[in-house]
Amino acid sequence: MRTFRIETWGCQMNTHDSERLEGLLRSEGMAPVENNSGAELVLLNTCSVREKAVHKIMSRIGELERLSPRPTIGVCGCVAQQEGKALLKRSSAIGFVLGPGQIGRVLEAVRAVEQGERTIFTGFDPEEDYHFQTIFRKSSTRGMVTVMEGCEEYCTFCVVPYTRGREVSRPVDDIMREIEGLTGVGVREIELLGQTINAYVCPETQTTFAQLLSRVSDLNGVRRLRYVTSQPRHFGPDLIQVLSEKPNVSRYLHLPFQSGSNQILKKMNRKYTREEFLTLISDIQLSVPDLNLSTDVIVGFPGETDEDFLQTLDILETVRFGQVFAFAYSPRPNTPARKYTDQIGESVKKERLHRLFEITDRISTELNQALVGTIVSVLIDSHSRRTDRDWQGRGEDNRVVNFPVTGRERVADIVDVEITRAGTHSLYGQIVGRETGPALPVL
Ligand code: SF4
Repeated sequence: MRTFRIETWGCQMNTHDSERLEGLLRSEGMAPVENNSGAELVLLNTCSVREKAVHKIMSRIGELERLSPRPTIGVCGCVAQQEGKALLKRSSAIGFVLGPGQIGRVLEAVRAVEQGERTIFTGFDPEEDYHFQTIFRKSSTRGMVTVMEGCEEYCTFCVVPYTRGREVSRPVDDIMREIEGLTGVGVREIELLGQTINAYVCPETQTTFAQLLSRVSDLNGVRRLRYVTSQPRHFGPDLIQVLSEKPNVSRYLHLPFQSGSNQILKKMNRKYTREEFLTLISDIQLSVPDLNLSTDVIVGFPGETDEDFLQTLDILETVRFGQVFAFAYSPRPNTPARKYTDQIGESVKKERLHRLFEITDRISTELNQALVGTIVSVLIDSHSRRTDRDWQGRGEDNRVVNFPVTGRERVADIVDVEITRAGTHSLYGQIVGRETGPALPVL
């Protein structure tokens, strides 16, 4: 097979896994193609965190099967790990199934298909080599770097511990080498990735996540530093101190709380209470007042009463997150919550979600409008989705900012933008200066 195409669903971990897959296929001389026709191999890098996502993937397999000529399909990611052999039975177009812990074996799987074999590589090998040298990175401005794989929190609604395996932290020296390689070629923003990133502990030196973040922020050329996803119960004062002391650590924090009710948090196995979460938020805001907070919320978890739901709304009103990723609960295979007998009806979930979005949209709009008239430092990513006459980038707090192209700037420049308009999901402004971000070494 000489040509391929990768379609990616789900979180940043999957986006980064696709960069790893692409790098390995390119290293064998295979060429990417951008449209349906022409790719001999189509990799579906899948997400199984919600039922809807799995349905979409199954219907995509059906569409690909009907193409002529029919490509070979490689199912990768969390659905691959979850469904395994069943996928091969589902469609003869599927040549291999490759779980997220087996990405390094994609070329082995491709060669097997070329020999007429269909393979399944699932499960986790803690000794698996992580070859960052072959990663194919799509962005020249931002570099994603995995610091740990897997999760051992076992929230009762979540498939991740079953699809991505146990927590495995990478050695700190290996991470630093990868980041130095990225800044050496001009990457300006580093995004550290891990499902519960603040549980990171270096297996060789016992370096904690707060220490790792501090070391990375001190590296020459790291203009901006982001990290996802933090678990509230692992968020200690050492990490808050790093956020308050390091100007290049992003003014954006994603901190999922999932529910505002203690009885639901307990059933979710989140291991913190609403009071502990609110105390943590106020400690963080006290030390880093300009932080843009975002969160994840599940609505309609089994047994959620009106009172439980109101407590979730109360946290949203109290904390005032800049962005909220909220979803109706959907039962997932292998998870304890699937078997709970007090499931909530779909119409109740829908109505609660609607009420929640009314509140979160209002708050996001108010927070964004408060920025009109201020000047924000923006890293330019690309032209805006709507028109090539505008740039799109992100502020230090991760807010999306659009502004007109003047012809004197390029992708990866950092410019000062005065905000003139604000919507619910983005800001609009005009360039008033350049390169006056944090006082860090210029590349
Ligand atoms: S912390 Fe909970 S929700 Fe997050 S990946 Fe782990 S099990 Fe899933």
